[in-house]
Amino acid sequence: MNAKKLSTKLIHTGDGQFCKELAKTASVPETFPVYLTSVFAFDDVPSLDAVYEHGAKSYIYSRMANPNADAAAQILAIAEDVPDAKALVFASGMAAITTSILSFVQAGDHVIASNVLYGGVYDYLANELPRFGVQVTFADLIKEGVHVQPNTKLLYTETISNPLMEVPDIAAISREAHERGLLTLVDNTFATSAVARPLALGADVALYSATKYLGGHSDITCGAVVARSTLTDKIRRFQSLYGAIPSPSDCWLLARSLRTLDLRMKKHSKNALVVAEFLESHPKVEKVFYPGLASSPSHERAKRQFAAGRFGGMFSVNVRGGVKEASALIAALDAIAFAPSLAGVATTVSYPIKTSHRSYTKEALEKAGIAQGQLRFSIGLEDANDIIEDLSQALGKL
Ligand code: PLP
Repeated sequence: MNAKKLSTKLIHTGDGQFCKELAKTASVPETFPVYLTSVFAFDDVPSLDAVYEHGAKSYIYSRMANPNADAAAQILAIAEDVPDAKALVFASGMAAITTSILSFVQAGDHVIASNVLYGGVYDYLANELPRFGVQVTFADLIKEGVHVQPNTKLLYTETISNPLMEVPDIAAISREAHERGLLTLVDNTFATSAVARPLALGADVALYSATKYLGGHSDITCGAVVARSTLTDKIRRFQSLYGAIPSPSDCWLLARSLRTLDLRMKKHSKNALVVAEFLESHPKVEKVFYPGLASSPSHERAKRQFAAGRFGGMFSVNVRGGVKEASALIAALDAIAFAPSLAGVATTVSYPIKTSHRSYTKEALEKAGIAQGQLRFSIGLEDANDIIEDLSQALGKL
C-alpha cells in the first residue's frame, strides 16, 4: 500500500511523471493538447543549465514560451508563406502592435503612420508613444507618400484601413521604406494571410488582432506578429519582458480556428461582395466603402495585391442623413447585432465614431474622411440573402 497521506497522493499522481510516460507511448493525440501549465519541471540543475547555456530545446516558464502559443505560431508563420517567417502570439492585437513598435524605437526616433488606422493604435501613436520621446507623423500614405526624416525608424500602415477600407500599395511603400532604411509594419487584421500577405509584398512585420478573423468566432482575445526570425527574436525578448502573453487555452482555440481560415475568408469575401453590391444600389445609402467594388479607388490596388476574388468581409457604409439615420438603422436591424468588434461567424455592425474611433478628434475624423453617419459592417458566414433581407427591412424603416 502507498503509505503517503491523501493530500500528498492527490498532488503527486497524474502529474509530470505521467507526462513522461505518455511521451513514450506509440500514439500521439490527433489534436494538439492544451498545455495549461505556468511552469515546466526539470529533473536536475544540469538539465536546466543545458537550456540556458547550450540551447537545449525545452520549455521553462509560460511567460517566456508555451507549446500552445508555439503551435498557433507555427500555423501563422506557414500561412504567410515566406522563407524564414516566424510568428509570435500575444494577449491581444494591441499587445502585439505596441510591443512590436517598442521593440524598434527609442527616445529621439520618429515614426510615420497612416492617418486612417484602428482607433486604439491611433490613440497609442498620437498620445502614448510621444510620452517616451518618440515623434509620430500621420499622413495619407496613398496620396502624400512617405516624408522621411533623418530620425525616422519605422512606417506603420494597414492592408485594409479601418474603417475606410482603403488599400495602400504595400509593395511600393515597403520598397521606399527599405531604400531609406526603415522598417514597414503592416496591420493585416482585416485581410488576413488568406487575402493578402504583407511579408510576401515586401513588408517587414505583419501584425494581427487575432481576436478578429484569425480567431474568427468572437470568443478569444489574442494578437499575433509574423516576421523574419531576426525580427521576431527581438520582439520575443520584449514580449517576455512586458509579459503580453496569451493564455494556453486561447492559443488552443486560435490554432483550432486557423484550420478553417482559408474557407472562412473565401465565404466572408463572397458574401461581403454580394451584400456591398446590394447596398450600393440602395437609395438610403450614400456610399459603400469596399475594395471589392469597382467603384472603390482601391479596387485595382486590391486586385493586384489580394488573393484572386477575395477582398475580405469588411465594408463601411455612409447612411443618407447622419447620426440620426445611422442610429435608426442599427436599432431596426433584427439578426445583425450591434457589436464593437468584427470578424465572427455572424454578421455584425459597428459605429466607428462611437466605438473604435472615439479617440479621434472631430477634426481628425473629418480630415480622415470618417463620416458621422458611417457604419462598419462585418459580413458573416450566413446565407447572403438572409443578410440582405435584414438590411432591406431595416433600411425600409428609415
Ligand atoms: N487592429 C485592428 C485593425 C483592429 O480592428 C483592432 C481591434 O479592433 C486591433 C488592431 C486591436 O486588437 P485587439 O482588440 O485584439 O487588441
